[in-house]
Amino acid sequence: MPPWQIGVFASVDAGLGVHLDVAKELGIPTVQVHSPHAETRTQAVADKFLAQCKAAGITITCVFGGFEGESYADIPTTTATVGLVPEATRAARAQEMKEISDFTKLLGCDAVGMHIGFVPSDRESASYKGLLEVTRDLLDHVAKNGQRLHLETGQETAEHLLEFIHDVQRQNLFINFDPANMILYGTGNPIETLKKIGHLVRSVHCKDAKWAAEAKRGAEWGSEVALGEGDVGMETYLRTLKEIGYTGPLTIEREIAHDRERQRRDIGTAAALLQRLRAQIL
Ligand code: MG
Repeated sequence: MPPWQIGVFASVDAGLGVHLDVAKELGIPTVQVHSPHAETRTQAVADKFLAQCKAAGITITCVFGGFEGESYADIPTTTATVGLVPEATRAARAQEMKEISDFTKLLGCDAVGMHIGFVPSDRESASYKGLLEVTRDLLDHVAKNGQRLHLETGQETAEHLLEFIHDVQRQNLFINFDPANMILYGTGNPIETLKKIGHLVRSVHCKDAKWAAEAKRGAEWGSEVALGEGDVGMETYLRTLKEIGYTGPLTIEREIAHDRERQRRDIGTAAALLQRLRAQIL
């Protein structure tokens, strides 16, 4: 695949992504996909979706897992509900993520992605050690499917994410870098973070955001905005991706499923911006 193919987050039947026809209409050649609900993770659904992709000339580059009960309402709720970190749902969600990996294999895709949650800061805690165990077990399953797992950024600082990946000790654990999340969660300057973790980045989101007021960073969300209108700095972002040697797709993420018209418009504008910058930089 040529470097920096434009992509968009799409959905099979669930999540915040656009429907495949939007990617098709906009001529976008790659998609990341939100995994569908359990009852639709079937061979028939995979075959149909894959046929639609092939007909539209679209390649699936990563399938993202998500779980019932997750809520991004505010940062404390996200901490309590998202990913494999909450202990009450950890085992069941790890099992579901294995099933999502199996479904991803049916789609012929070699990468699964997820928000693992807010990794506990104390590396000696039982919760952290338990998370390491369940992540290793998941990664071994993912490896059997010939896949990598990409952790979405935002909930950890660069340093803690690197510590966690180091401690997991598996060769198929990588990063899906989202610059806007670093701003939304207040976890660090996205460009500086990208330079620190760039060697592990295997997929990226092109998303933009504005910082929360300084006193509230990390406690309250920043705000997601259309690509190019926020604090990431798209030209600097792409130049930094070039600097770290990233050649994978540039996947646009615009999480405003409540406003499908605006979502479609913003994705079209974002694709044009990325194409213009790509022509300048590559
Ligand atoms: Mg993202």
